[in-house]
Amino acid sequence: MNILLVEDNPTQSKLTSTILQRRGFEVDSAETLEQALKKLARPTFDAILLDLSLPDSDGINTFNKVHAITDIPVVVLSAQDDRELALQAVRQGAQDYLIKGMLSTDSLIRCLQYSVERNRVENELRRGQERLRIIMDNSYDAFLSMNSDWEITGWNVQAQQTFGWTEKEAIGHSLNLIFPTHLKKQSLRSIEQQFLNNSTRNARTTRELLAIHKDGHDFPVEIGFFRIDDEPKPSYCAFMRDITKRIEYQEELEHLVQERTKSLTQKNEELRQFAKIASHDLQEPLKAVQGFVQLLEETANGNFDKDQKEFLGFIQDGTMRMQQLIKSVLIHSQIGNNSSENYITDCNLVVEEVMADLAVSIKDTNTQFEVDWLPSINVEHSQMLQLFENLASNSIKYRSAKAPLIHFSAEESGDMWLFSVRDNGIGIDPEYKEKIFDMFSRLHGKTKYPGTGMGLAICKRIVTSHGGNIWVESKSGEGCIFLFTLPAVIAKTNVGAEK
Ligand code: ADP
Repeated sequence: MNILLVEDNPTQSKLTSTILQRRGFEVDSAETLEQALKKLARPTFDAILLDLSLPDSDGINTFNKVHAITDIPVVVLSAQDDRELALQAVRQGAQDYLIKGMLSTDSLIRCLQYSVERNRVENELRRGQERLRIIMDNSYDAFLSMNSDWEITGWNVQAQQTFGWTEKEAIGHSLNLIFPTHLKKQSLRSIEQQFLNNSTRNARTTRELLAIHKDGHDFPVEIGFFRIDDEPKPSYCAFMRDITKRIEYQEELEHLVQERTKSLTQKNEELRQFAKIASHDLQEPLKAVQGFVQLLEETANGNFDKDQKEFLGFIQDGTMRMQQLIKSVLIHSQIGNNSSENYITDCNLVVEEVMADLAVSIKDTNTQFEVDWLPSINVEHSQMLQLFENLASNSIKYRSAKAPLIHFSAEESGDMWLFSVRDNGIGIDPEYKEKIFDMFSRLHGKTKYPGTGMGLAICKRIVTSHGGNIWVESKSGEGCIFLFTLPAVIAKTNVGAEK
């Protein structure tokens, strides 16, 4: 350890340096303050032993001049009757003091070693605090620290920018400084209450409040408060952010979404009306064609040759198909996004109805049903019937060589029900598992499997318009599982029986 010994008394200086050197210290000496300051220009010392009374400086000044140019720990040497002066030096930053003439070797060594160690810890602490200050001042958030009475004790650069008050102006004021007059009591009390009710160690809370700038304008802030549970009293800190822009942006976004939703709803309604009118209008000429074909048949009175009969058959098939297509488009267009909370439909009854509707084809194909218990849900009865009937009739239509077996089941999944309709039919190549839900999408020629390609599109529309999802799991030749989700019933005390 390197010691600078500043002592004008040659005997005392010699004695002290000899003691130190014997214990392995390196000692450099100065007799005046001027000499000492020169030596300190090269700061190679670990500690300074400083006599306060030198030929060119006396008293606390001696310490202050040394302390001003170095952070090397200083141990003050004072005369016995100057103890008060030594204490003053300690208050102003000296690490310790020793009374001349009462120096034991051990106390001198211990004092120097402690001073060096204490000084190192203090310097680290100071550097840590400086680092913290730099971090705080470079934060994008305003940072405030407060004592247990909510008086501001810390205020970073961003706090000054956010609220207009300088650190000097803000320190010592209550947190109320940043709340508008009419909200002062209410804001602070509600924050205090929040912490009072929270016994978690170092509790924290976040809230949005109205704050006021020094210039008088108020603005919304998001505040994250936390308590530091120090003894004997806690203190508080807060990070605050001006959220004026965010709120403006949110409002703008909300407005935009509302506008878009309005315009989309309007367009949807227009499209629905268009599909409805178009379907109705298309049916008229179709009915006329059917009527005239019938007239033609009656007029000809069976005098058509084979080709003519075949052509007439084509016309009848075509018109019938067209009629089915128009009917499906009409159904599809009429499924809206209207709330169905007022309907409670028991799916068990719906499946029974499906079986009754399909009784003929069930009998013809020897179809078997397995039906697990099914829930009641907030979907209009006719739509549920359409959904189950489309799926069941497809399972019969797309059967394999085996007699069809159709299994209905449902399980609860969060706030939704997951329904499944499983069959043992021809299955679907996974490549088409999304395409089949598109309008008019068919995987087979109409001769082998008649249809419009609208059945699954209608199912999808029913499910998605209630906030659910529909998909299929299948492999060619291995049957299909159609799965769909629908929201669980929203309990409503005044909901009556099924409509
Ligand atoms: P459609 O049955 O009138 O053709 P859908 O929209 O009901 O129209 O079905 C679309 C296509 O999906 C069908 O053409 C068929 O290829 C396939 N598909 C639907 N259900 C099944 C099923 N249960 N098994 C095998 N394929 C199916």
